[in-house]
Amino acid sequence: MGYAPLFFKLGPQTRFVIIGGGHIAFSKSETLIALGAQLQVVGKTILPELKVFVEGVGGSVIEADYAPDYLKIATIVIAATDDAALNETIYRDAKAQGKFVNVVDTPDLCDFIFPATIKRGDIQVAISSAGISPSLARAIKRKIEYLLPWNIDALGQWIKEKRDVVKKNLKGIQARRLFWDEVLDGGIAQEVVEGNNAKAETLFAQALSEAPAASRAALYLVGAGPGHPDYITVRGTQLLGQADVVLYDRLIAPDLLERYARREATKIAVGKSADHHIKTQDAIAELIETHLRKNKIVVRLKGGDPGIYAHAAEEMDIARKLGVPYQIVPGITAALGCAAASGFPLTERNGASAVRLLTYYDETLYSDDFWKSLQLSRDETLVFYMTTRKRNTLIEKLLSIGYKPTTPAVIIEQGTTPNHAEYEATLGTFIEIYGDTNFITPTLLVIGDVVRWRATHSWREPAAVREDWFAKNTKEVADVT
Ligand code: SAH
Repeated sequence: MGYAPLFFKLGPQTRFVIIGGGHIAFSKSETLIALGAQLQVVGKTILPELKVFVEGVGGSVIEADYAPDYLKIATIVIAATDDAALNETIYRDAKAQGKFVNVVDTPDLCDFIFPATIKRGDIQVAISSAGISPSLARAIKRKIEYLLPWNIDALGQWIKEKRDVVKKNLKGIQARRLFWDEVLDGGIAQEVVEGNNAKAETLFAQALSEAPAASRAALYLVGAGPGHPDYITVRGTQLLGQADVVLYDRLIAPDLLERYARREATKIAVGKSADHHIKTQDAIAELIETHLRKNKIVVRLKGGDPGIYAHAAEEMDIARKLGVPYQIVPGITAALGCAAASGFPLTERNGASAVRLLTYYDETLYSDDFWKSLQLSRDETLVFYMTTRKRNTLIEKLLSIGYKPTTPAVIIEQGTTPNHAEYEATLGTFIEIYGDTNFITPTLLVIGDVVRWRATHSWREPAAVREDWFAKNTKEVADVT
């Protein structure tokens, strides 16, 4: 169980009743008054300054022994006495009357907790660490404080004034959303914050006259990178924020959607892997087409780079045939991410002068051209995608066409993620050591002299646990299909 962040509406009938009259009650009173709450404080002895404060802001103070009847008018009860037994009694009485209650500094007796807050007029930010560390929540608050202009509320009020004219001019929710995103991310909002209202008006009028008035379709194939959530590009995150629909692969960082996609966007898991065929490529194509026809902005979020083993051409074809604009937003492909995280280069001076990104299908075994070309690239770095299960046959074949048994080879499991793991041997010893190992997908096989650098240059500590970091993306799938 956790805490759900909600903003509580303060109506004329909303009353907070604080039981207690000492310093704890005082500090809670200040918090609540700052939030704009109506307050009643009940306590046997009440600090004079607390009385003055509460009455001074229109609240009421009752000097009396606690009795359950005092809770009746409360919407929310705060037990803030210094007597733990009394606090517990208040808690039970409040629950019996169906009230929400918070016993100060006693998380077990709290229906809710107070977040660290930033309040600038109507704009509020609330931060919680689930009670684990108020200091951490405050540290986060300080960071956010720096990011928010002091008069961010002025921007809020300015938007309020403009809402009707935007609604009148731009039909369609998507058109309005994109317009506001542009206003807020671009220079217009900055002018408002800096108090240059006339300039803001001119820019605003111009932007509104130029904005597309109706919803439009677009397809973006966005590379999410190999697994580390920070390895997506800035452009990728921007487009995720614009998407009406996100069709996402299994091999993306589990948090990416939560971080960058809109809560209201439709998110559909279409992940494929050797074990999980959630949606066939045809079904994915159909989904893309359906949403494009409905004038949606579709982001196809793919692991690694959208142009590497990822059906990019077929998917773009759908948009092209419909006459819908499309774009590829590149990502860090697994080969680059895994090698970097393992601490070795893919080419080197006086060593491998080229790197090949490859995969190995069953029928490849009978392709003479494939093996001939590999025979000529024995000094290059070979990176095999989707090949770990067939590694033994591949390695035997490479040895048979003249690859040296001393050539280093490494399998990288869940590269760049917190569960990143490396399994190194040589072509001559790999089968003996790892022939039967069950690796956790995704895995990449890298063969070549460059791999030897990881012995000295590897910079990651081995993962503490061996589990499937991408599993969350697969589980969600079950809910969708
Ligand atoms: N478009 C992706 C590749 C898709 S094919 C890219 O550019 O990386 C899927 C294969 O990529 C997997 O079977 C695996 O071989 C490789 N792969 C993807 N992410 C990986 C990771 N984090 N660690 C190791 N291999 C990965």
